[in-house]
Amino acid sequence: MLLHFIFLVKEEELEQRKWEFNYVEKMAKFYQSWIRKTFSKDIEIQADEMIVHSGRKFSIIDVPTILEDHRSRGIDIFHFYLTYFRPIWTDCTCEGYFADNFAMVKWDKSPQLGDIQFLMEKNCSKVSHELAHEFLRQSGFKNYKEVVHDIWDKHLFASLPFEYYDENYERTDNDGLFATLDTSSIRL
Ligand SMILES: [Zn+2]
Repeated sequence: MLLHFIFLVKEEELEQRKWEFNYVEKMAKFYQSWIRKTFSKDIEIQADEMIVHSGRKFSIIDVPTILEDHRSRGIDIFHFYLTYFRPIWTDCTCEGYFADNFAMVKWDKSPQLGDIQFLMEKNCSKVSHELAHEFLRQSGFKNYKEVVHDIWDKHLFASLPFEYYDENYERTDNDGLFATLDTSSIRL
């Protein structure tokens, strides 16, 4: 199975957001390892930019548009879109949305160039939320929505810390490069 991350970037921001895409590439490799450890699934990983040209129909891109993009690329591939807009309608509590072999989150733009910490806290963590839904669903887990939302509520409202991982994908308290939801209560 292939998990394909697609980073949507506006044409005029392509250069200034290159460093964010570099982080996305690292994050994709991290999630390959995390998915193996957490969900016992071996997957291939790919990460690409999708350049959105201004003034064309893609400038009003939204969830149906990327769902159509997912179908045209092939529904057997798990496409994960990192977008600059939030879904208009969603069950999710994290500005994300998922369906079979499909996920998206709103990727918040860092206010500061090179602020990896921001990308980790704001975006990387949200990606784990949607991945957890879809891999739990694919594992035949009935409460794949509620389980993730219970954990997420604790992150939002009960000061439960995220799990942090360093560049070698090892757990860390002070040297985090990647952040995920707390997986300790996930039992497959
Ligand atoms: Zn959710």
